Amino acid sequence: MKSSAKSTAPAPYDCDVLVIGGGIVGLSTAHALTRAAPGTRVTVLEKEPGPARHQTGRNSGVIHSGIYYRPGSLKARFAVRGAAEMVKFCAEHGIPHEVTGKLIVATERAELPRLHSLIQRGRQNGIPVRELGPAQIAEREPHVRGLAAIHVGTTGICDFGAVAAQLARLAEDAGAEVRYGAELAAVDRRPGRGVAVRTSDGSVLRARAMVNCAGLHCDAVARLAGDDPPARVVPFRGEYFELDPAREHLVRGLVYPVPDPAFPFLGVHLTRGVGGGVHIGPNAVPALAREGYDWRTLRPAELGTVLAYPGAWRIARRHWRYGAGELRRSLSKRAFTTAVRRLLPEVTGADLIRSPAGVRAQAVLRDGTLVDDFLITEAPHTVHVLNAPSPAATASLPIGREVAERALGALAR
Ligand SMILES: Cc1cc2nc3c(=O)[nH]c(=O)nc-3n(C[C@H](O)[C@H](O)[C@H](O)COP(=O)(O)OP(=O)(O)OC[C@H]3O[C@@H](n4cnc5c(N)ncnc54)[C@H](O)[C@@H]3O)c2cc1C
Repeated sequence: MKSSAKSTAPAPYDCDVLVIGGGIVGLSTAHALTRAAPGTRVTVLEKEPGPARHQTGRNSGVIHSGIYYRPGSLKARFAVRGAAEMVKFCAEHGIPHEVTGKLIVATERAELPRLHSLIQRGRQNGIPVRELGPAQIAEREPHVRGLAAIHVGTTGICDFGAVAAQLARLAEDAGAEVRYGAELAAVDRRPGRGVAVRTSDGSVLRARAMVNCAGLHCDAVARLAGDDPPARVVPFRGEYFELDPAREHLVRGLVYPVPDPAFPFLGVHLTRGVGGGVHIGPNAVPALAREGYDWRTLRPAELGTVLAYPGAWRIARRHWRYGAGELRRSLSKRAFTTAVRRLLPEVTGADLIRSPAGVRAQAVLRDGTLVDDFLITEAPHTVHVLNAPSPAATASLPIGREVAERALGALAR
């Protein structure tokens, strides 16, 4: 970084821990720091004018039970614990939420073995699940068609944007500073001298340690700090429709397909949200920018970085058939509707209204492997959160504590 930080003698630090990113993970980390070590001076830099403007404010709003994740993984441990904590947090702070339970429905015989594997996995993760036949599916969701299903009682819904805003308030009440409209532009890290950063408006801030919770930009922030992250973000957009209010009676709660184990995405699902409306989605298509919420948004530099990354080409080669299907369902409402009708045969194209999309920050290794688990790495004076896709909103309270603990460890070294 070219800043005055280069030449001066060690200046007093402006804060102890600098958190980059005011999404749910960064704000949970800031909150956890103020709880674990009161008196620690924490500053959060968020480039947008408020919290939760990206993944945190553009998701399905589902508190995941933890059924899908490999036993022992960070995702499994943090989702199971995080779901219970999230319900409690919402109740304590008056944030809209509900423990609704959900159905995972097999619509074809070929999906039955995978449904049974999920039951095993759920039990290994300590999650109570019930097996349902077609008649029991119809009792719970009269308009959904399925051969067999599992009912997961601990799944819920909430407003993660409101959770992030509350975490920001709690952190601020405990002395943290959250700066909005503050985009990190450069980092200068020196052994034994902490981190100096410059924001795009030219301000310089010195911190004893930096935590990177920049979501869709986390790999770029790691590179600004001089680190070579083991994975890069490949942005996958998730598009949604909402059900015409006159047809909302078709869906009572949460209905998911059996996921394809080759992908960390759960498949297009039906979600009755905290506001009462029903969302259908998200699919998974490549985004042409990290914040590319539609096909028109293209950032050549960001797209170039993805296209220059061997991992992106390897995914494309390995999963082209699946990808082509997702592209078709993105470009053609008729194809999307046909896919939804497997679960909900009565739905028609006229019932579906486009609604805002989200973009997932999915970390991908050079060999094209989609990083499945949460990925948190450490470097001198720095902690990087390099993969925090779903269910990281659900798991944000335990993730925040884990990252805070590592940041406090970096201060002690
Ligand atoms: C379509 C979709 C559906 C999902 N559904 C669910 C679900 O139902 N349940 C669930 O648990 N999870 C779900 N997720 C995942 C969940 O939303 C994310 O795991 C979670 O929000 C990640 O939070 P974050 O703080 O890491 O990222 P973000 O919310 O993206 O926050 C990162 C922040 O960093 C800021 N930033 C980036 N670069 C800079 C910079 N240089 N300077 C300053 N600030 C910067 C950004 O502006 C942003 O606000 C879904 C995600 C998507 C996209």
